[in-house]
Amino acid sequence: MIHILDTRHLGRAGIIASTALETDEGLVLFDTGPESTFENLATELRTIHFSAEDVRHVFLSHIHFDHAGAAWRFAELGATIYVHPRGAPHLIDPAKLIASATRLYGDDMERLWGRLAPVPEERVRILQDNDIVRVAPFEVRAIATPGHAGHHHVYHWDDNVFGGDVAGVRLGGGPPTPPFVPPELDIESWLESIAKIRALNPAKLFLPHFGLVKGPVPVHLDALDERVRRWSLWFRDRIRAGHDEPQMTPAFAAYIAEELRAAGATEDETLDYECADPSFMAVSAAVRYWRKHHPEQLSSLRSD
Ligand SMILES: [Zn+2]
Repeated sequence: MIHILDTRHLGRAGIIASTALETDEGLVLFDTGPESTFENLATELRTIHFSAEDVRHVFLSHIHFDHAGAAWRFAELGATIYVHPRGAPHLIDPAKLIASATRLYGDDMERLWGRLAPVPEERVRILQDNDIVRVAPFEVRAIATPGHAGHHHVYHWDDNVFGGDVAGVRLGGGPPTPPFVPPELDIESWLESIAKIRALNPAKLFLPHFGLVKGPVPVHLDALDERVRRWSLWFRDRIRAGHDEPQMTPAFAAYIAEELRAAGATEDETLDYECADPSFMAVSAAVRYWRKHHPEQLSSLRSD
């Protein structure tokens, strides 16, 4: 039995999910949401007749706060936390993560994400690409899937995939969109990761933002793949034309709002997308990506 639990981040429904799987060895969570919504999640667990103490295994797609912020709370209650090798050091010692997030969010840090504390090392289990964890009656396989973040896993069991952020954000009646965030956005890796998920041919794909994908998974992945490519080129062309970040930010926000509406999102859902995946982050992510990976493509003086 799989349950989509709504963390109701900042009081908004349908933005950040934790996905729960019932097993013979207690409850498994895929991502926990931020620490600020731990009590909401505990309430959601009670509605399916579990408690936070019943969570024995937490599989993290990556360590961004909206996915892993509450992991330490579950570790405190005895859960094992599974994570990519490059995510583990930041769970065990979150000082650097807190410092960089505080630079980004300032005084809003606690309101947005809550408190952060270390996960004791003995509660962390590092998973390499293709490692399998047996949680009877399931075998959960970690698959390294960089692109959104370098330290990202998706998880595969039976014919299900928990897709993390690399599998896209899809809210309400809207289309799948790729959350471009700094500092590790990598377009080529992202496309390879989508291909890896496609090759698993899952019947069901679960997203942290938000829940079970409706309709065929390949159609979702194709639409996501197309947006990763097109959005990255949108940025390349503007950087080439000499636009700076303050110019690109409102232009990109307008570009995607228009696209979401055209694809069937309501006004409210368009706002939800902005909450789940702020458009300003895409601008700095894409600028950094192009300058770092393909500076030769940014020259406007090219003749070809
Ligand atoms: Zn993320």
